[in-house]
Amino acid sequence: MEAKVASSLAPDGSCVVSAEEIQKWMEEAMQMAKQALENTEVPVGCLMVYNNEVVGKGRNEVNQTKNATRHAEMVAIDQNERFGGCGSVLNIASADLPNTGRPFQCIPGYRAEEAVQLLKTFYKQENPNAPKSKVRKKDCQRS
Ligand SMILES: [Zn+2]
Repeated sequence: MEAKVASSLAPDGSCVVSAEEIQKWMEEAMQMAKQALENTEVPVGCLMVYNNEVVGKGRNEVNQTKNATRHAEMVAIDQNERFGGCGSVLNIASADLPNTGRPFQCIPGYRAEEAVQLLKTFYKQENPNAPKSKVRKKDCQRS
């Protein structure tokens, strides 16, 4: 699991994301991931923060909506009127922080063990939307 933290900007244009902010926002994202898991979704939560304000949030809703595009990040993007339109979607993998030229901060492996536990729990669950198995069990007593 990978967490991307979009940094806030100070008035002088410097990047200001404290460890406490990261912890606070990642905790909120983890809570959304747990909420997804409780609803038999792949446990992913997404939070978009700009200037220390949540501008979009979402959790996976693929099974609930039976729509394979309803990933957490897409749900979060849909909540924000700043996204959409020609060229206005920010690519945090390649774009720089506005007005700074610095790349977005990426923090891989944040709370990795907890994230792996959530995924393991997900894969132990039964999927109520899965098609019935077509594999016949052999009748051992008659052969
Ligand atoms: Zn996704």
